[in-house]
Amino acid sequence: MPETQQTFDSRSPADGRVVGTFPLMEADAVNEAVDRARIASSWWGDLGFDGRRPYLMRFKSILARRSSELAELVHQENGKPTDDALLEILLSIEHLHWAAKHAERVLKRRKVGTGLLTMNQDARLAYQPLGVIGVIGPWNYPVFTPMGSIAYALAAGNAIVYKPSEYTPMVGEWLIKAIQEAIPDQPVAQLVTGAGVTGAALCNSGVDKIAFTGSGATGRKVLKECAETLTPVTLELGGKDAVLVDASADLEKAADAVTFGAYHNAGQTCAGVERVYVHEAVYHEFLDRVAAKTRDLTPGTNRTSSYGPMTMPTQIDVVRRHVLDAMARGGEAVVGGAESVGDRMISPVLLTNVPEDSSAITEETFGPTIVVNPVRDLDEAVDRSNASSYGLSAAIFSKDRKAMERAASRLRVGAVTMNTWVMNAGVPALPWGGSGDSGFGRIHGEDGLREFTRPKATAREKYALPVALTLTNFQRHPKAADLVRKTFAFVHGRS
Ligand code: NDP
Repeated sequence: MPETQQTFDSRSPADGRVVGTFPLMEADAVNEAVDRARIASSWWGDLGFDGRRPYLMRFKSILARRSSELAELVHQENGKPTDDALLEILLSIEHLHWAAKHAERVLKRRKVGTGLLTMNQDARLAYQPLGVIGVIGPWNYPVFTPMGSIAYALAAGNAIVYKPSEYTPMVGEWLIKAIQEAIPDQPVAQLVTGAGVTGAALCNSGVDKIAFTGSGATGRKVLKECAETLTPVTLELGGKDAVLVDASADLEKAADAVTFGAYHNAGQTCAGVERVYVHEAVYHEFLDRVAAKTRDLTPGTNRTSSYGPMTMPTQIDVVRRHVLDAMARGGEAVVGGAESVGDRMISPVLLTNVPEDSSAITEETFGPTIVVNPVRDLDEAVDRSNASSYGLSAAIFSKDRKAMERAASRLRVGAVTMNTWVMNAGVPALPWGGSGDSGFGRIHGEDGLREFTRPKATAREKYALPVALTLTNFQRHPKAADLVRKTFAFVHGRS
């Protein structure tokens, strides 16, 4: 690092101690990284699917062999227990494996059907790499979240430049070094560290796409910055996910899922459970079960605590404001309350009967709190879930499969899980992404691979059509149009 380079510290959220110091990169350094990645992208793209796969498998193997080392870094920098860190690493390995294995099947050049007027064409569709993808990530899942873009972008044949959150640069550096170890030939993966200014510079650097994961407020800035250079973007933003509990639900199972989904990672999960709508017939029993499980939690700064400290200090004020607003509007605290919100740690807060216009219902809280409200039936639960401006995902618990499927099809979200929470994110073949304030675009699965490509269409004339059928020619036969019209009336006009 040059002596004049400005730096910033990454600190442990548990006690504030410095765990790493990194360069605060601005436009020049970012542009240089993108230039290097641009050169590497040609080599990487030219390798083709077969050429890239062994490199990606080598990266996967590094992740699998050194997962404990990476989990320890995540614990230090993000604060989450090591088993939670391990879980996001293991899921990332499965995504990387799937992307490397399926990229060729999904993206390779293939023949497509033609129409009547184009039957003499050999039509083909290929998905070509875009070039260089700028990946901007958050701190809450510092491995799983960026890997959702990095694995798929690399498998599709792109180079990447990654800007991790200023709260988790050490984890970001580890990931990029692991890719560089797996692919030593060319710098197909580059790290740029810094703050918002670094992310903004990446948006303006001329990359071929930005894959952004973060808050809605920053997502809007990214969209504006990318508008200047017409850089396409995917925006994976926040959520206000609801769990819908039907009268027939297995309440113990639902209560377990809600408790884990709400408090795990200190509630700092885009798809975290923030609202629960419970059928009034089972509301009291369900609330009691969740309350008992909530009281059993042991949050703290140990590797084995139920959950850790808040990673980003400013989020603590948001959580306090939401709890206070819910209570001021008549909500009841079943476990904890505003006093649960400490300097670094927040003890779990279970709220009920919170008005639907309270900020604890309308805004992303991103802390270890849940609101459990009673509803008349599953239909009302769907309506309340859909009333949110967010549309990331939702979960339904019921023993009535048909009712669950009906509710799932009505939910305005990118994914629905049934009798489980968030498992869709762990299935590599399923796309991930939301609508409304949760953003747009998809990572993971086939859609996630295509997101990092440019569809290339080709049509090659196999033989010339008879003049009597050719319309795209100034020398066309005077009766050609009429003949084609009659043919169309015969073929398409009968139904
Ligand atoms: P932020 O929006 O604060 O930051 C996200 C990233 O954007 C960080 O790397 C940040 O850098 C960078 N950034 C900041 N300003 C700019 C800018 N002007 N231009 C470009 N980049 C910029 O989000 P958080 O890190 O706080 O993450 C939490 C949010 O992420 C929550 O809303 C959560 O729901 C969402 N999220 C969504 C997921 C999904 O898949 N839908 C998954 C995980 C999280 P720096 O940190 O250095 O300021």
